[in-house]
Amino acid sequence: MPGRLLIAEDSRTQREVLRTNLQEAGYEVLASADGEEALEQLSHGGIDMLISDVVMPGMDGYELCRLAKAHDRRLPVILLTSMTDPLDVVHGLQAGADNFLRKPYEFSHLRSRIEMMLHNKHLRDAGQTQMGLELFFLNRRFMITAERQQILDLLVSTFEDLVSSNQQLRQQEADLAAARDQLDHQLREAQSQRDRLETVLSAVPQLMVVLDEDGIVTAASDALARFLGVSADELVGRTSADIAKVRLHDGQELRPEHRAGPRAMATGQPVDVGHAFDIVAERADGRFVPVLIQAAPVNDRDGRTTGAVVLAHELEALSLYDPLTRLPGHTTFAQRVDAAVESLDDGQQVGVLVLVIDRGTELTDSLGKDGMDRLIASLADRLREALSLPELTAHAAALSPGYLGNGEFALLLPGLSDETNGVLLADTVRRHLSGRHSITDIDLPVTLSCGFTASGDARTAAEHLVPAAAAAAHAGTRRGGDRVESSSPDAAAGAAERLRREAELRRGIEQGELRVHYQPIMSLDDGVVGAEALVRWEHPELGFQSPADFLPLAEESGLVVPLGWEVLRQSCQQLAGWRKELPDASDLRVSVNLSPRQLMQDDMVMRVEAALDDSGLDPTALSLEITEVGMVMDTETAATQLRRLREMGVGVSIDDFGTGYSSLLQLRKLPVDTLKVDRQFVDGLLTDPDDAVIVSASISLAIALRLKVVAEGVETAEQAEELRRLGCDLGQGFLWSRPLAAEDFGRWWADRQEA
Ligand code: C2E
Ligand code: CA
Ligand code: CA
Repeated sequence: MPGRLLIAEDSRTQREVLRTNLQEAGYEVLASADGEEALEQLSHGGIDMLISDVVMPGMDGYELCRLAKAHDRRLPVILLTSMTDPLDVVHGLQAGADNFLRKPYEFSHLRSRIEMMLHNKHLRDAGQTQMGLELFFLNRRFMITAERQQILDLLVSTFEDLVSSNQQLRQQEADLAAARDQLDHQLREAQSQRDRLETVLSAVPQLMVVLDEDGIVTAASDALARFLGVSADELVGRTSADIAKVRLHDGQELRPEHRAGPRAMATGQPVDVGHAFDIVAERADGRFVPVLIQAAPVNDRDGRTTGAVVLAHELEALSLYDPLTRLPGHTTFAQRVDAAVESLDDGQQVGVLVLVIDRGTELTDSLGKDGMDRLIASLADRLREALSLPELTAHAAALSPGYLGNGEFALLLPGLSDETNGVLLADTVRRHLSGRHSITDIDLPVTLSCGFTASGDARTAAEHLVPAAAAAAHAGTRRGGDRVESSSPDAAAGAAERLRREAELRRGIEQGELRVHYQPIMSLDDGVVGAEALVRWEHPELGFQSPADFLPLAEESGLVVPLGWEVLRQSCQQLAGWRKELPDASDLRVSVNLSPRQLMQDDMVMRVEAALDDSGLDPTALSLEITEVGMVMDTETAATQLRRLREMGVGVSIDDFGTGYSSLLQLRKLPVDTLKVDRQFVDGLLTDPDDAVIVSASISLAIALRLKVVAEGVETAEQAEELRRLGCDLGQGFLWSRPLAAEDFGRWWADRQEA
């Protein structure tokens, strides 16, 4: 169908291309470079259609369209746009445009639109009415005529575009996350290898260097650095010949073949692994001491030799290890104490404890020397075992044991924050070593006394610390044994007080003084969905104690484990009761807090199952709240057990979300179904922009990961409203109720049901 078309396009090239194409297609074409010019041409009449670019300097396509339609309502208008925003469509609709075409477009596409529109115009001009369609979009009503149906298509297709690019983005994000996961993993792997190497380098008593293929030092042990009187860092980057003065026993220079050994190994030439050279090396004090050198090649994954490890044993130092106990002897232990004191951070101390066998002389008399040696070896094994007790591992990485001789064992506790804690740890170690030891055919009960000292602010050196601890230990033996004595009275008093409180709490738990209070968890739209169990201690004299008063102690002493299981037991019983007794409570759930210590117990799943079985509850009735996600991630037991529980249907919530280190990555891996946004952020939701960002980000995160979100500590209706607006499902806080005793919760529930 022939027609007279007007183009408005500011780009000259695009205008000319379009003009030529349209002319070749048989249309008569007028062109203008901007809106004003186009209006001018329209005013002369005789134009069948306007095809306009949207983005033009001065008057844009929308404005041109609006003015053109004001001039002639029936003039068809096609807008050309490189639109990315669906709102462009709305602007176009508001301006009265009939059709859109996204740039870049195919000319044939444009042509078929022009044809269709000219055809429609012709019909309409001939007086034939046509179907229309009403569209509501963004609160406005638009009339869509047949041509404008296209716009509807376009609207839909724009959204489709957005959705698909959004999906692409998500896929890219997922790919990125996976890549990041992998990198993270590799990084951790590398870090842990490096950490391991560093641990080895700082712990081995040998003089050790790692050489690269050019014979350059890439790492050195602390022992070597001490031997040479420099820092380990100073050794890196130098050649092995450069760092140490070595010569043969008889004072002669090393012959080439001696030097060739390690170097040959580092360059991958075949050399006897473990080949030793009997030579002397100069120590920091200027003395040449005999050393035994061994070297071994370092290979990469493909078996290519990339360097060598060279070990030198200071022959005198070998005797610094006690052969009976296989523990560092007196000298080495003292060196380690001094090293630990030197590298202390501010506010920290080094603790030294010495353990002595009670009634040592009597025992030697009855056991004989052999029997006593066996006992000492057995105690040494227990001391090594003690190093992996949770109380000790939680405390420090660089614990260092020693055997001082004469039935005296020692342990170095670096980086202590307070002395009281040191005394308690000493007691833990003492108890672990005490008890029955089987010596030949007898099961011998043994007790030990432990003496404790700490370096204090004065940074006391080993020569004072070790004897002071030993003296305290012997004093303990004299006073009847089986005890810890501290050389600092303050520390002793603090520890005694804490042990008293611990005993009191243990008694309280055993006497059934724990009470569980319940705080409703609300759906922000309607009603109660569950309750969180919060423990209280009803002390016979002091009255109700809040968790803040006794949980830290319970946590430190390990009492939180029996305490936690008792709370779980009571909560399940209580919920089962409510489900039967309270009206409409058959879906009520309970959330119970679990301490990290409980998560580390390998009978956790069993405990939870037992509590559910005893109460007859379905696993889905229970949710467990955990903190310290990082710890869970690192502990295989915890993660596996939680996963088992999730599979059974038990809910798992991350408590205090936002306060600890819970990265997105961890969240995706953890078997979790709910986030609890910490109340400190909810508190500042309406007043502190930072808090508001954290809350809304947590909620979006939860939505993206398909987790439920509980906002904690909701105190006002305004906070609840804002949370609802942000898409949060659940809330908990004084706005609805404080934690209530079980009977009060029942009453509160009944009152709500009536209201
Ligand atoms: P949580 O798990 O974050 O528990 C919520 C705490 O916030 C409760 O303190 C509760 O009373 C308080 N709270 C609730 N709503 C509001 C509010 O609107 N405003 C304010 N200011 N506070 C509100 P509670 O009962 O003192 O418990 C303190 C913490 O002790 C708990 O924090 C939880 O980490 C721990 N805890 C309590 N019971 C147990 C338990 O049985 N086992 C373990 N492992 N931890 C527990
Ligand atoms: Ca909680
Ligand atoms: Ca919390």
